[in-house]
Amino acid sequence: MTVEQTYFRKGFGLKKELKPLIDAEYQSALVERIRARGYADTFGDVSVRLAQEFGFCYGVDRAVDYAYETVHKFPDRRIYLVGEIIHNPHVNQRMTEMGISFIYPDDQGCFDFSPLTEEDVVILPAFGVTIHDFETLRGVGCILVDTTCGSVLHVWKRVESYARDGFTAVIHGKYTHEESRATASQVTRYEDGKYVIVRDMDEAGLLCDYIARRPGHLSREELAAHFQQKASPGFDPEADLAHVGVANQTTMLANDSMAIGMKIQEAMVERYGPERAGEHYRSFGTICSATQERQDAVAAMMTSPPDVMLVIGGYNSSNTNHLAHLCRQYTRTFHVEDAGCIDIDTGSIRHKPELDPDADQATDFDWLPEGPFELGITAGASTPNNKIGEALVRILSIRGIEPDLPGSTDRTA
Ligand code: SF4
Repeated sequence: MTVEQTYFRKGFGLKKELKPLIDAEYQSALVERIRARGYADTFGDVSVRLAQEFGFCYGVDRAVDYAYETVHKFPDRRIYLVGEIIHNPHVNQRMTEMGISFIYPDDQGCFDFSPLTEEDVVILPAFGVTIHDFETLRGVGCILVDTTCGSVLHVWKRVESYARDGFTAVIHGKYTHEESRATASQVTRYEDGKYVIVRDMDEAGLLCDYIARRPGHLSREELAAHFQQKASPGFDPEADLAHVGVANQTTMLANDSMAIGMKIQEAMVERYGPERAGEHYRSFGTICSATQERQDAVAAMMTSPPDVMLVIGGYNSSNTNHLAHLCRQYTRTFHVEDAGCIDIDTGSIRHKPELDPDADQATDFDWLPEGPFELGITAGASTPNNKIGEALVRILSIRGIEPDLPGSTDRTA
């Protein structure tokens, strides 16, 4: 097999053939009906409103398609996925059922590819892998099916250009998130490429205070120590914060990323003056359009907030966490990982009440209003529609309502 034939990133031409199968597994007649009725419908005393944009994004759609295509293309090979294809437990469960094995990272985010041989097929997830991991896999000689989303590749190009031009990439993201790690690794294409990952405005503030030499800023050594795990090896604030370019994980809150970019720009103006600040700072909005549209859709919904808001998506899904965080500022919001968090027998809901992906779950019993109420629903970019439909069916069942949907495949389990 030639080198070219071991790397695929455009699918195998089986999309049309597999569409009915994929639709049957992930679509929902109930969700389609609500959508067709203008994203709103009434079931007994429950008025349901769907966000205008929700659920699977184009990148996830494509990654899931490729995974199904890969299974059909290579029925006799061992197939692996690097990490999770997307952050959704149900979809990942389906991948396991199809015979795909997961290679999970250790605590340091490192993967062990030693069991792989050139006979194996390895799927790279929508959020990509680091350059180091990619090169290791190329070295194994296995077949690679690369589902890295085009929007992620777009960010990589931007970060690479920062490194090329001697700018340190300041990435707004979680340093443990696969996408941020993969994005940060792009600077290693250049010998002197540097990055630092900031989680939030507080961390960005540490950089800003240092750049602007504000009173009380951390010393060079203290700042380097703070970002030791979150920056390129040998990160030296003195040299590496003289020129910075801002980028972000594609699924962060757009407003937060923008605010961080502006704060860094202000710090550069304080340090170098308005005329010269531009030589020290670059920025580029790298939130993907799908994330932006989902955030805009809930923001629009919150201009007239529903009584109860349900947000469905993996607890480690960054974009879902941010949707829930937005909604919490306006109404009672329940972020559930899956429809199974809603228990018809007890009428309870198990949910994650905070932004932190590792926050403990809470269980509420009296979470649905007594009388008629409005229920808002959205879902993260990695949540399939059938799980949205199932969650709604469960809530309606608690109220003793059965949606009238002849032939529907929506079910409660
Ligand atoms: S959230 Fe955006 S960047 Fe991530 S897979 Fe979806 S479309 Fe691509």
